[in-house]
Amino acid sequence: MSNIQEELNALERKHLLRQLTAVGFATSAHIQQDGKSYLLFSSNNYLGLANHPVLKSAAISAIETWGVGAGASRLVSGNCPLYAVLEAALAQFKCTESSLVFNSGYTTNIGALGAILKRGDLVLSDRLNHASLIDGARRSEGTFRVYHHKDVSHLEAMLSRRRQSQAAVIVTDGIFSMEGDIAPLPEIVRLAEAYDALVYLDDAHATGVLGSHGRGTCDHFHITSPKVIQMGTLSKALGGFGGFIAANRLLIDYLVNKAGPFIYTTALPPSLLASALAAINLIQKDDSFRKKLWQHAGYVRQKITALGFDILGSETPIIPIRLGSSEMAMAFSRRLFDEGVYLPAIRPPTVPSGSARLRISLMATHTQEEIDLLLSLLEKIGKELRVI
Ligand SMILES: *Cc1c(COP(=O)(O)O)cnc(C)c1O
Repeated sequence: MSNIQEELNALERKHLLRQLTAVGFATSAHIQQDGKSYLLFSSNNYLGLANHPVLKSAAISAIETWGVGAGASRLVSGNCPLYAVLEAALAQFKCTESSLVFNSGYTTNIGALGAILKRGDLVLSDRLNHASLIDGARRSEGTFRVYHHKDVSHLEAMLSRRRQSQAAVIVTDGIFSMEGDIAPLPEIVRLAEAYDALVYLDDAHATGVLGSHGRGTCDHFHITSPKVIQMGTLSKALGGFGGFIAANRLLIDYLVNKAGPFIYTTALPPSLLASALAAINLIQKDDSFRKKLWQHAGYVRQKITALGFDILGSETPIIPIRLGSSEMAMAFSRRLFDEGVYLPAIRPPTVPSGSARLRISLMATHTQEEIDLLLSLLEKIGKELRVI
């Protein structure tokens, strides 16, 4: 047993203490805290769908039909008919044979990686992968190794050194969640094919955002390879909650039988299935949300770079501003907060030490005036704190 108070004190001294604050939502670009309204730049609700009327009414009518809870796990009696409809839609959206919905993106990664990786298997993970991938891979029976961020030569060296009989899975984010850059998927898939490995692609941030109609990183690079297992969430651009795997039927049948975090938990509330289905249908019919998001992203990346900030190679609507120390990132974030902008600092261990940052995530629902206000505050506070 550790000294709990002392550990918390130590985190506070290092500016690494994390605390929960109540956040009320008014519209998707504004939040309320302690009775004050703030302009929000830290939500993954990229397309503004979390409070879209079409999703809300789909969820409400599912509640009227099926109630608020599923009552049991999917293999017992919780498998609402909406699951089959949603899974068919997700498979079609991701251009795969089949798909399987889990209760969250996090448990998708824990469950799928845990089921796929066997003792002695090699799991090769990008150094900047999301914590849920690292947790999933480390808790599995596989042997965990890390390659340098997006470094395909390093990855190839690791693949070529392995024993011939050793199975290997390459694990990568599609869009890296704290950097906003995109994985070199064509090269990774080429290596997977050359060295007979699988690719586990976490498209939490790419689903709804990247590729035609937001189909994700495979679509963006025009990749259709049976070597790729695609994972996504219903919780970010799709506006609701839940995770999924899109892959061939055989793998899906296997996960239904072997993934503990799928088997031993109550099914999702039917309202979330209904809203996810409405989201998938909406973004395939109407590309205007995504177009607006990318228009904002191009503008903000260009302006912030011109101000002299380091955006760490961002290519997407996730735009980090590297500040270095946790203390500076906290000070910058607090100043923005004083000015009415909500943009929390991202600190270690979420990001490597010495690379604390602000992480802007844009939404289609931000207005040009709101974005210009953010840019003028970044310039003002950046100069005041002498980081530009
Ligand atoms: C958010 C996130 C997850 C977890 O998804 P949830 O649905 O929020 O549990 C997994 N992977 C990545 C890369 C993420 O950013």
